[in-house]
Amino acid sequence: MKFLLIAPPGMGKSTLVETVVERLQWTQSISCRGIVSKAILNEAGGLIGLSAQNSDGDSRTFMIQSDSSSLGRLPAQCLVNIPVIDHFIVDELQRALTSVENSLVYIDDIGAPQLQSRKFFETVRLLFRTQSHVLASAVSDNLPEIVELKRYPNVCVVEITKENRNALPPILTSAFNNSHFFEGLDSQQQRTVFALLNRYLCQTEYISAEKLFSDSIGSVAQKKVRQVKQNGLTSEYRVGGKERDHLITWRNGTFNCDCDLHHGVGKYTGYPQTCSHEISILISLAAASEPFPGIATSSALPVC
Ligand SMILES: [Zn+2]
Repeated sequence: MKFLLIAPPGMGKSTLVETVVERLQWTQSISCRGIVSKAILNEAGGLIGLSAQNSDGDSRTFMIQSDSSSLGRLPAQCLVNIPVIDHFIVDELQRALTSVENSLVYIDDIGAPQLQSRKFFETVRLLFRTQSHVLASAVSDNLPEIVELKRYPNVCVVEITKENRNALPPILTSAFNNSHFFEGLDSQQQRTVFALLNRYLCQTEYISAEKLFSDSIGSVAQKKVRQVKQNGLTSEYRVGGKERDHLITWRNGTFNCDCDLHHGVGKYTGYPQTCSHEISILISLAAASEPFPGIATSSALPVC
């Protein structure tokens, strides 16, 4: 599972990447190796450089402001130490290439200073092409290297916003923790999972976004979704849940489920959202040409 997080400076992408890695290491569910960029600030809080920290906790400065009188948000005159990028950042990323199977490599971030090193992007490209699990971040999505990564078919691009940044750590942690179920889906279903994630993030349905990974992909991979009735424009499905089976009806263009989240009752009182059972059906039928009469789903899922 590969995520490319895009965010403007100061949105907290390094903190987000660190938080997800810490959660995964805490649960020992997946081994992690990679780089996090850290801002170097002067006494006034102005950015005067960047350092990189590897997974062993060692760090090196790879960019420093050359004009100390400039106190702007971003240093106008910067010196980039390419040997540090080549022999510290790239070395750490190359160790990820040879680490244990099913490990996660994190790359925070893929920015203009790092991209001055040709070895850096060659290694990033190789990681995106060969590794199962990547968590990467970038400030600008206009750089040609980022445009190339965004085009890879198995990469989920997520925009970090003020609204979603606090909700993303448990969602991304759940995604990697359940990646074995994700790998059991076909490519069309995997694309649908990524499209649904962005739809629920956009609609601030964060419970749905987390359940997409914690519950729905497992239900589909374990074939717990069954159509039990089809009558004209009405369909009924039964989806195996963690505690019991749920009955979901598709009628007049909408789903109806018997669970608490769908109705906003029980522990979800006042907060109805798209439930994991409905999501399971959407993923399960993603490959069908017209799974639900009257609406376009699968590859044509609208984000907002
Ligand atoms: Zn439900």
